[in-house]
Amino acid sequence: MIFTSHMPQALAEARAAAQRGEVPVGAVLIGPDGRIAGAHGNRTRELSDPTAHAEILAIRAGCAAAGSQRLPGYSLWVTLEPCAMCAAAISAARIETLYYGAADPRMGGVAHGARVFDHPQCHHRPQVYDGIGADASRDLLQDFFAQRR
Ligand SMILES: [Zn+2]
Repeated sequence: MIFTSHMPQALAEARAAAQRGEVPVGAVLIGPDGRIAGAHGNRTRELSDPTAHAEILAIRAGCAAAGSQRLPGYSLWVTLEPCAMCAAAISAARIETLYYGAADPRMGGVAHGARVFDHPQCHHRPQVYDGIGADASRDLLQDFFAQRR
């Protein structure tokens, strides 16, 4: 099987989110067939919904299309370390592999904070690969917050 990085698409979603005035985080969900099952950026402001993180929106789209609350064999590409809420959703959806870009010491819940997947209550731990496209992801976030200061 040929390995394809979907981080460029996740970064494109993050850039689109920044243009909407949202924190630039993007997520792309890939199905077992290698096709995109969901691609979203943050929409918390637009939807007035604190749960409308890129990962949640991508998982919702994938689950709706699959007609299932679980997504075994799926992989999720995210530009930033998922927060605790998203990590819990990734686990609940039984996503097989998580690829993420920049670490997030402030809000992250995978390698920081709650470390959801390492918790004894966590019943499904995805394979985790971090640091993919991390520089591009970090630059986007830094530019976004620099412009708002
Ligand atoms: Zn999140």
